[in-house]
Amino acid sequence: METIGHWIGGKPVTGGGRVSPVYNPATGRRTAEVTLATEAEVADAVRVASAAATDWSRTSLARRAGLMFRLRELVSGHQSELAALITREHGKVRSDALGEVARGLECVEFACAIPTLLRGEYSAEASRGIDVHTVARPLGVVAGITPFNFPVMVPLWMLANAVACGNTFILKPSEKDPSASLLLAELVARAGFPEGVVNVLQGDASAVTGLVEHPDVAAVSFVGSTPVARHIYETGTRAGKRVQALGGAKNHMVVLPDADLGAAANAAINAGYGSAGERCMAISVVVAVGSVADPLVDAIAARIPDVVIGPGDQQTSMMGPLITAEHRDRVRSYVAGAAGEGATVVVDGSRPPAAVVAPAVVAPGGGDAGGFFLGCSLVDRVRPGMRVYDDEIFGPVLAVVRVDTYDEAVALVNANPYGNGVALFTRDGGAARQFQRDIQVGMVGINVAIPVPVAWHSFGGWKASLFGDSPIYGPEGIRFYTRPQVVTSRWPDPTPEAIDLGFPMNR
Ligand code: NAD
Repeated sequence: METIGHWIGGKPVTGGGRVSPVYNPATGRRTAEVTLATEAEVADAVRVASAAATDWSRTSLARRAGLMFRLRELVSGHQSELAALITREHGKVRSDALGEVARGLECVEFACAIPTLLRGEYSAEASRGIDVHTVARPLGVVAGITPFNFPVMVPLWMLANAVACGNTFILKPSEKDPSASLLLAELVARAGFPEGVVNVLQGDASAVTGLVEHPDVAAVSFVGSTPVARHIYETGTRAGKRVQALGGAKNHMVVLPDADLGAAANAAINAGYGSAGERCMAISVVVAVGSVADPLVDAIAARIPDVVIGPGDQQTSMMGPLITAEHRDRVRSYVAGAAGEGATVVVDGSRPPAAVVAPAVVAPGGGDAGGFFLGCSLVDRVRPGMRVYDDEIFGPVLAVVRVDTYDEAVALVNANPYGNGVALFTRDGGAARQFQRDIQVGMVGINVAIPVPVAWHSFGGWKASLFGDSPIYGPEGIRFYTRPQVVTSRWPDPTPEAIDLGFPMNR
């Protein structure tokens, strides 16, 4: 069986530690195993990245931009291979995987502008004979720890800006779908980046702890679930590091009675069941305001049979499997428990449609043969306090909460501990404008269900969806991966000044 290794110092490195299984979620078959970094391998990766850091930080902006342009071309030219690796190990359908690569590519394109982004500030004659300028200096070695659900896009959220700013980078991808990170690293090498500037260290929690506690790692970018994000933030900052830690979500889509019902129902389907609900910006709660509830629930339920579930590499598939058997079973348990909590299960997708489980892939002995598929579930009359509302399910389960008024909808969203994304569907511009000001969520969509910001803005939730004060990528990414250095300078006057022991005052 193939063992997936690290990429350190510009080349593949076989690991010598424990291993973890990697599956094709569409068949349920174990396809490879990934090596999990030992303490010595973590130390080695940091040593290699540290050794490369000084030279890389002194590389001219023109050269860094040139390399970024080449990386842009290579990622663009390998979109198909990257998407195929995503589908094989994550399970998402090909169009979705290609979309992920395209959004990651945007971040590389943004970083191509690094000479402009790092132009700095200058105050000529700030005081008599004195000039002041601010430059953005790199931090050194930075680490990126990424979740399973975007094995290309989220690494590129970090990698592109981190190295363009003059840092060296160690990526610790999810152990569930590790292969795409190695192709990315190979493309970085082919673009001409020096050895050690980008490294991939495969591993689990122990590798993460090693990186977060290592004295030579200056900053940590983390994207994953809230409990781990909180832990990384606390551990990393205690060790004196700069940390940005993006966590989980429970995203609401508020539908006002005047909304275009068809558009809202389609958006709920797309944002709720796309990528089998395994997106941090997926809609998991539809908040139906007033009279819209009955027709909206009917419209969503009527569309569910149109969602074609199947292996991600089949062109007709719209929704693929979940990442693991354990995760599928956990998601299923929310639907199974919903009625007992007082909710109404309108569509029970806890068994995948029979057509999906191809007899050809049923393995001897049963088990998870046939892949980790679920159908789409719709659960109505959900309320806070029910597990199906309170937890981040991260699967194809849409909950509907019915409220009477706009104010109740806003209060519901604002009381939720997460604050990643939210959407409002309405035809009323005034209501939409009011909503933006009332709502305590980091990313807001107006008639846009998945408001993931473009690469030249920044991405970040509020509350339990982000720890620290730094959103990721875009201008905030540049700020995170650099620290300002302010230089106050005076050149000797033709006429030297007299001795003056007073505190320097601006004149
Ligand atoms: P996860 O938290 O289980 O894992 C994320 C990363 O942390 C992985 O690399 C994993 O190896 C590592 N890790 C896991 N447990 C750890 C521990 N105890 N100590 C140290 N490191 C540990 O998340 P996941 O299941 O891979 O991804 C899904 C989660 O990520 C969801 O909660 C989703 O909302 C969230 N997510 C958030 C965003 C965002 O931008 N806010 C984006 C994508 C995913």
